[in-house]
Amino acid sequence: MTKPLVIVGSGLAGYTVAREFRKLNSDQPLLMITADGGESYSKPMLSNAFSAGKDKCALSMASAVQMAEKLNATVLTETSVRAIDPQQRQLRLDGQEVVYDKLVLALGASPLKLKCAGDAVGEVLQVNNLDDYQRFFSRLQSAQSVLVIGSGLVGCEFANDLALSGKQVTLLGRAATPLNRLLPAEMAAHLQQKLAQVGVVWQSSNQVVSINRAAQGYAVRLADGTSLQVGLILSALGLRANVALAEQAGLQTERAICVDRMLCSSQDSVYALGDCVQVEGLHLPFVLPLMKSAHALAKTLAGVPTEVVYPAMPVTVKTKSMPLVISPPQVEECEVELESRQNGQRALYWDQNRTLQGFVLSGDCVAEKQQWTRVLPAWLAEE
Ligand SMILES: Cc1cc2nc3c(=O)[nH]c(=O)nc-3n(C[C@H](O)[C@H](O)[C@H](O)COP(=O)(O)OP(=O)(O)OC[C@H]3O[C@@H](n4cnc5c(N)ncnc54)[C@H](O)[C@@H]3O)c2cc1C
Repeated sequence: MTKPLVIVGSGLAGYTVAREFRKLNSDQPLLMITADGGESYSKPMLSNAFSAGKDKCALSMASAVQMAEKLNATVLTETSVRAIDPQQRQLRLDGQEVVYDKLVLALGASPLKLKCAGDAVGEVLQVNNLDDYQRFFSRLQSAQSVLVIGSGLVGCEFANDLALSGKQVTLLGRAATPLNRLLPAEMAAHLQQKLAQVGVVWQSSNQVVSINRAAQGYAVRLADGTSLQVGLILSALGLRANVALAEQAGLQTERAICVDRMLCSSQDSVYALGDCVQVEGLHLPFVLPLMKSAHALAKTLAGVPTEVVYPAMPVTVKTKSMPLVISPPQVEECEVELESRQNGQRALYWDQNRTLQGFVLSGDCVAEKQQWTRVLPAWLAEE
């Protein structure tokens, strides 16, 4: 009997590579294994779905059963892969073993945990999948005030969305301004103002010391000595690639699973893509890189070895109060040229040879996205 192609993970990476593979090969048995419910959904929508009144059901585009049918695959849900034996080409699940012809790891990343004192730290919410989102959605029905901890892309998007839906939002970050790592100071200050206009209270250069249950919600003590009373706390401190399973199997890992341009790991016939990988050292945990990877990998799995190419791939930040498109510079030493217009700003990052290395566009300037993307160097150019 033909051994199956096995894909572990049913996020955007897992389902996209499965879909692309099926376009090229309709015969080989395909087995998908996922620790979650296996619904097909778009994770980027989670951070601005609340103001649109969307719950898990509204966000789920297809169930695992529907996906299995569409892909002519078996989809095992609520099933964790516990170990990989690359020599025997075998996976260990709870209570059963599965053999594979080729294995694809699309394991994603897990949220960093907030570390602080108090009896309610365990009640801090994080949103990284549909079930997390549903918990958050349900709890928001009775919470009027929300503390969002972490002012990166995801924290800013949630804060903006919650404020637009009428919640009292406090956004807390360690830096002086939100999104400070990705924006020039002037633009970050502008984002802070735009968020403030819709009611987001910015707690700068601060940290949480303790979280305790209070009569209604939580009492939060901050490092500057002040306290907050809030109904709900969302932590958005960033993600770490899921590498434990790969490490255990002897695959090379660093901050993520190391793969080459074929998306092949250090073990023969074990491939990986999405938030769990770094491709030739590049860890880009966003949708466009995983789409590019899925298209290339599907061809390789179907018998046409294909290297992934990463063009410049700007990220759209879904802060409705100040739309942003960001393509961070690929080299450190850059001169920033900032232009402010009436309804937007544009920052261009030039290197010493006057080559454009990155940009940030805000407000009306986001319309220039294509124009500037075209002249940026690729992240991984064709060899
Ligand atoms: C709130 C939010 C908003 C975002 N917005 C944007 C955006 O606007 N633009 C953008 O480009 N990117 C955005 N991102 C990032 C983007 O969503 C991710 O890069 C992408 O969804 C990752 O997909 P993935 O399939 O690699 O991982 P995941 O979606 O995390 O999927 C991982 C899968 O692996 C399974 N799994 C893990 N371990 C095991 C195991 N041992 N056994 C079985 N199954 C296992 C999980 O159950 C899951 O099905 C956002 C992320 C978040 C959290």
